[in-house]
Amino acid sequence: MPNCDYDLFVIGVGSGGVRAARMSAQYGAQVATAEDRYMGGTCVNVGCVPKKLFVYASHFAEEYHHAEGFGWGPAAPAFNWQVLLANKNQEIKRLNGIYQGLLDDAGVTHFDGRARLVDSHHVSINGRVVSTRKILIATGSWPSVPEFPGCEHVITSNEAFFLQTLPKRSLVVGGGYIAVEFAGIFKGMGVDSHLSYRGPLFLRNFDQDVKEVVRDELDKKGVQLHFDSVVEKIEKLPDESLIVYFTDGSKIETDLVMYATGRKPSVNDIGLENVNVDCRSNGAIIVDDEFRTSEPSIFALGDVIDKIQLTPVAIAEAMAFASTQFKDEPRIMDYDGIPTAVFCQPNIGSVGVTQSQAEESYDEIEVFRSTFRPMKHTLSGSDEKNLMKIIVDKATDRVVGVHMVGSEAGEIIQGIAIAYKAGVTKSIFDSTIGIHPTTAEEFVTMREPAA
Ligand code: NDP
Repeated sequence: MPNCDYDLFVIGVGSGGVRAARMSAQYGAQVATAEDRYMGGTCVNVGCVPKKLFVYASHFAEEYHHAEGFGWGPAAPAFNWQVLLANKNQEIKRLNGIYQGLLDDAGVTHFDGRARLVDSHHVSINGRVVSTRKILIATGSWPSVPEFPGCEHVITSNEAFFLQTLPKRSLVVGGGYIAVEFAGIFKGMGVDSHLSYRGPLFLRNFDQDVKEVVRDELDKKGVQLHFDSVVEKIEKLPDESLIVYFTDGSKIETDLVMYATGRKPSVNDIGLENVNVDCRSNGAIIVDDEFRTSEPSIFALGDVIDKIQLTPVAIAEAMAFASTQFKDEPRIMDYDGIPTAVFCQPNIGSVGVTQSQAEESYDEIEVFRSTFRPMKHTLSGSDEKNLMKIIVDKATDRVVGVHMVGSEAGEIIQGIAIAYKAGVTKSIFDSTIGIHPTTAEEFVTMREPAA
């Protein structure tokens, strides 16, 4: 394709799109991007970043209470939702600018507007058609809400970040990352918080001990958990409150219903009908190891391929893509040992397999498990428990799974994940000196396998 306007045109400037665009540009490619919503995508605007800020905000109620055991207070100042919202919006605006700066500094041409595929080498934006050697679709995902009577009354996480007023009562439907995180956020902010999950226990792909500890801790904090609970319909009353009817005949009156029932790849209205790109039934774009679609000049990565919907995964995919296509250093994305954290309260941190996955994959495993009250809570008065768990393949002594529920679990598991990637054995855990007194030292002092 000689005489193209660009070497690469990236549709979508979320975490994956921005990283792919700027790395490709740094490797010498002429790159353009287009976006019709927000700079930085879901993570920056309606995902990881504002969510974590809300988690911090929601934690203070408990912290003020805990402080009393250490001689402070009693004084829990009033919470002001409007202040949090304004400060959060200000911070997101700052980050939007940083993302724009990253593209500018890399020499990327950015178009404000919806990009649509015209054919395998042309994209239209605001009526202008440009030519490009390669196209990258990095359009991310969008919350998915099932159809049912009254579904028009529900919000998703997208709207939760911009509520004009904080509700007095909330119901979150779902049992994944977003549901447990938001049930805790609402509770911490003083909302009467309910969570409804359709199965017997939420957090489907997590270790059974993790699920049980999170259930117990959320319950202790006063989040009202409804398992085996399926919404049948929702009615809105004249005073704007909502009545949620469940299939078992029960009902809840609330002020806000938020659905966190997964996210679907964003592939609507990007001109896919004009090219030969194969998708799965949920819209996810099918790609090979190089992120190439069935149309050789078109690539896709991040949430839109629906492999693992995590920001750092999209970024790593983008790095592999740019290196392979524009640096002449082919790299295959390594999906093994991706650590993850759920910012419910207390946090979950995990890397490697769960106990049940390990039981299926290895002849014999050893499980080291510890549940304990963290030192801070000896004076705080809280009866919050931590869980730490190591799963070992007995034949090789290799640590194949590490799981934690507790304060800063994400921070702790990030470090453990490096050891996991390096092939750490249980003997190396045992020979590591603990840092005392910390919660994390428990990981290097567990000696006796659980029965
Ligand atoms: P998840 O896929 O994590 O969970 C979806 C939940 O909704 C599951 O509990 C699922 O139940 C339930 N569900 C699905 N369909 C229905 C339905 N029709 N009716 C009732 N319940 C339903 O999605 P989330 O929306 O929580 O998050 C989306 C993605 O965003 C996650 O996969 C995660 O990768 C990412 N994310 C990551 C975060 C982090 O890293 N901390 C934070 C937030 C999001 P079941 O299990 O029975 O299928």
